[in-house]
Order: sequence, then structure tokens, then C-alpha cells
Amino acid sequence: MGRVTNNTELPAFPAEGDIGSILLTEEQIQTRVSELGRELASKYAGETPLFVAVMKGSVIFVADLLKAYPGPVQFDVMIVSSYGDALETSGVVKIVKDLDTPAAGRHVVLVEDIVDTGLTMKYLLDHFEKQGAASVSVCSLTVREGRVAEPAVDHIGFEIPHDFVIGYGLDAAQLYRNLPYIGVFTGTLEDH
Ligand code: 5GP
Repeated sequence: MGRVTNNTELPAFPAEGDIGSILLTEEQIQTRVSELGRELASKYAGETPLFVAVMKGSVIFVADLLKAYPGPVQFDVMIVSSYGDALETSGVVKIVKDLDTPAAGRHVVLVEDIVDTGLTMKYLLDHFEKQGAASVSVCSLTVREGRVAEPAVDHIGFEIPHDFVIGYGLDAAQLYRNLPYIGVFTGTLEDH
């Protein structure tokens, strides 16, 4: 059991040419996520915030962030799509799955993988406000350098350049979410 192949050699992963450089190592990410967990816990001391992870890109970040959060916290997911399988934004945010837990009266922490144009975040902030959340703050692992500061991201892991990045939840055509680091994608989607 537990054996799927007799091959002793592992296939090349990531595929050659797909990662131009490693932008954030696993260690850098883990250190920063621990800091963010403590930062959030001191901000919400005495409360039970509702962490809302935006799927699928935040899947790994939110799991690590929850583990790094030393206090009572609840968790829910939303699925939105804005990019499809292309590298460029379609400019359209669509809610594929809404919250199971009502946001009304809750202190919501929107957990994002990356804030690029801010379109997704803006849309979700309006959504929670309409639902009557007591407060909403945004915690994003990465934000683009030099982005327009409004709406503000309250808790930022790292500022990153304008390259298309993958890993630690972020995908290229649904692949590479499982990398424990964040790298610059230099492959082509047609190969996958
Ligand atoms: P925004 O609405 O801020 O422009 O884009 C947010 C969403 O676009 C992110 O949650 C993510 O799914 C996707 N996105 C933006 N930049 C990148 C990138 O460099 N790599 C990947 N994999 N997704 C990105």
C-alpha cells in the first residue's frame, strides 16, 4: 500500500523553464506568517474574528495563518473567480461560493493570497459591508509594489514586483499551488 509506481526516479518538478527565480523562500514565508498570526491575535484580543479565505489561492496561506493565530477564531471560505485560466485579469469578479457563516455583526478578516489591481478585494469589502459586518480588515500575503494604496491592505506579508508568481497556493492553469515557496512563472500555459 502507498505505492503508486515502481519508478525510483521522480519526474522533474517543477518542469524545466517554469520557474525563473524563487521570490520568497519557504522559510521567509513561514517567518512572516507567524508574525502576521501574532499581529492579528493582538489586534483581535477579546474577540472571535471570522477569517474569510478567498479560494483557491489562499488555501495554504490561511491554513498556516490559522495555525499561527493563538486565540479563538472562526473560518469560512469564499470562492471567487476573476482571472479564469489566463494570466491577465478579466476585470470581472464573480462569487462562485458565498459564506456559510453570516458576516453580519462579525469582525471579518479577509485573507488574500495576492492583491494585484485590488478589484477582488474592493468587491468583497463592499459585499461584507452590505451584509453588515462589524468591521472588515484585509490580510494579504502579497501585494504588488507601487499599487494604488486605496482600498488599504491592513496586514501585508510582502510587497512583490509585477511578475506573474506561482506557489504557496498561487497557480498557473491550476498547477503549482503545492510549491512551498513563491516563484516567478516563466513557463507557458500551453505546455500544461
Ligand atoms: P486583483 O483583483 O487584485 O487584481 O487580483 C486578485 C487575484 O488575481 C488573486 O487573488 C489571484 O487569484 C490573481 N492573481 C493576481 N496576480 C497573480 C499572480 O501573479 N499569480 C497568480 N497565480 N495569480 C494572480
